[in-house]
Amino acid sequence: MLRQKWGSIVCPSCGNLVGVNDQQCLTCGRWNPGLWGFAPLLNRLGRDLGFTRFVMGGCISLYALMLIADPNAINTGRALNFLSPSMRVLFLFGESGAIPVFAAGRWWTVITAGWLHAGLLHIFFNMMWIRQLAPPTSEMYGPSRMVIIYTIAGITGFTASTMAGAFLPVLGGAGFTVGASAPIFGLLAALVYYGRRTGSSMVGDQAKSWAVTLFVFGFIMPGIDNWAHLGGFAGGYITSRFLDPLRPERLDHLIVALVCLAVTGIALVFSIVHGLGFLRG
Ligand SMILES: [Zn+2]
Repeated sequence: MLRQKWGSIVCPSCGNLVGVNDQQCLTCGRWNPGLWGFAPLLNRLGRDLGFTRFVMGGCISLYALMLIADPNAINTGRALNFLSPSMRVLFLFGESGAIPVFAAGRWWTVITAGWLHAGLLHIFFNMMWIRQLAPPTSEMYGPSRMVIIYTIAGITGFTASTMAGAFLPVLGGAGFTVGASAPIFGLLAALVYYGRRTGSSMVGDQAKSWAVTLFVFGFIMPGIDNWAHLGGFAGGYITSRFLDPLRPERLDHLIVALVCLAVTGIALVFSIVHGLGFLRG
């Protein structure tokens, strides 16, 4: 059964029972909680609409594809660069930073870079953090608003490191940069803001201590893009403020989230097509 026409369903915003044809959820006030009868189908994907699995699956598949695409040039450097896809392939799939954006005109890489990783440890650490942070963020903001926060934090993070790389290179911006840590800092910011907005010191303090630990870790470890962390945190915080976790998630949030995912997919495909032409020419 794809579409439920009568009976009650679980509200996608607050999780309470609501009639599938009700105009508004009586508990949280969300309009059209039944999503024209498609809410049960979406709920089956999980409270996060399957986004945690989707991001992890997407990042791991892209990493594997990058290794397969140029197996002879895999970098076997140490630490975060162990098993790194070749420079060529990283460029092709859409790494960001001052060089791709300003020297090659690939501005859309600020969208794609958050889905790409430059080594086995790099992807391992980031996937651990996504597994840790995405489910609670989705619980507090709703899955659609989490996708919006995730996407915008990636864009602001890579824009910050690209701008710093181009105009403030002394302060350590990036020539080349990839990794999900920009959106991860966006999720951390969302949890910090949730703590402030609701007065939940448990959520807020935990998120703050994680954010501080990860920031400090970034300054100690070599080769970490601290501008992306800073930009991702700022973007995530401002977006969370704007979305306000105390108000129920709305249908237009779902539409914006789907647009975010579609734009990301298009940017990845376009990146490869444009990159093949660029490297040949
Ligand atoms: Zn509700």
